[in-house]
Amino acid sequence: MSIESIISFIRHTFNSSGFIQLHTPHFGGNEKKYLEETIDSTYVSSVGPFVDKFEKEFAKYTGANYAVACVNGTNALQIALLVNEVAYNDEVLSQALTFIATANAISYIGATPVFIDVDKDTLGMSPKALLAFLTENAQKRGDGFTYNRVTGKKISACVPMHTFGLPLRIDEIAAICKEWNIVLIEDAAESLGSYYKGSHTGNFGAIGTFSFNGNKIITSGGGGALITNDEKLAKRIKHLTTQAKLPHPWRFTHDEIGYNFRLPNLNAALLCAQLEQLNGFLENKRELAKIYENYFRNTDIQFIKEIENAKANYWLNVILLNNEQARDEFLNQTNEGGVMTRPAWDLMNTLPMFANCQHDGLENSQWIAERLVNIPSSVRK
Ligand SMILES: *Cc1c(COP(=O)(O)O)cnc(C)c1O
Repeated sequence: MSIESIISFIRHTFNSSGFIQLHTPHFGGNEKKYLEETIDSTYVSSVGPFVDKFEKEFAKYTGANYAVACVNGTNALQIALLVNEVAYNDEVLSQALTFIATANAISYIGATPVFIDVDKDTLGMSPKALLAFLTENAQKRGDGFTYNRVTGKKISACVPMHTFGLPLRIDEIAAICKEWNIVLIEDAAESLGSYYKGSHTGNFGAIGTFSFNGNKIITSGGGGALITNDEKLAKRIKHLTTQAKLPHPWRFTHDEIGYNFRLPNLNAALLCAQLEQLNGFLENKRELAKIYENYFRNTDIQFIKEIENAKANYWLNVILLNNEQARDEFLNQTNEGGVMTRPAWDLMNTLPMFANCQHDGLENSQWIAERLVNIPSSVRK
């Protein structure tokens, strides 16, 4: 199949002769109404009814007991690690195949990422690779915690990421983390609306984190959220993200160093309107994924589908080309032809600030990174 015919197929699918973006936001509901209400009320900033409304509805949507909104998904991850006592000098197991935010958040608290390989079918952390790494490199000590035998450092957390909204084998990851007493935090930034074995992603460990950046499935311009089933954690997250201020009618008292990570009411208003439309977006995107799947069937391009027991949100559709050269040719021709496509992120271990981090060889991550392309995935009108 020629790249030209793929370009015209995508043009036909989006019914457009103009530039086709990878993913655009879609504002088709109560966005303007809620924003106007917010402006009229003057409560645009750090308090207001839309933050509370969003937190309630987001918890309900994801099936978690508690949700806390915050300024973005990167800071959500940072807070998730902090409230789970991940400390300076600790190690955190994560993926090399992820957006930079995951590794940055680990670094903000002075911990070091260790990169575990992914599965070829989920593009997310491989339970097999995780167990192999721990068996070979780690040891549970008398204090009940797991330590890296090579570096001597405590392995305190594991942060897998549901890549492009495709659920990974998170139940198996959760079981391994439990066995080794490692806190599980899911980077679910890309997987709002994705489920594994009937549970929404982000619910399998201590905390799940989400992003509402402009390119995500729903957006508040910028924004993020944390979900948890643990009331104590939820309270502590709220406290830390609001400058650790103690409630009082008029006194300014703070009992520890907190963060100004609260989501403004103005953004929350937009987000409430977006959340109301999420199920419609998901249906629309699933239909598009089906169209792509059928189109690429019986070609030498592989469309990546959700695995058994998983329901993906198909945030960004993924195809795999035969090799790096074929990928680059595809990227060049499609982008020149006005159809936006993108490769995977450079693997974290190839970036200068993470080049010295321990990893397990990352065979699949490398294989995928050489072949992966994201194709246009916006909600179609
Ligand atoms: C988008 C994203 C984040 C968070 O991004 P923010 O822009 O800070 O909201 C974190 N991890 C992954 C994998 C992401 O894709």
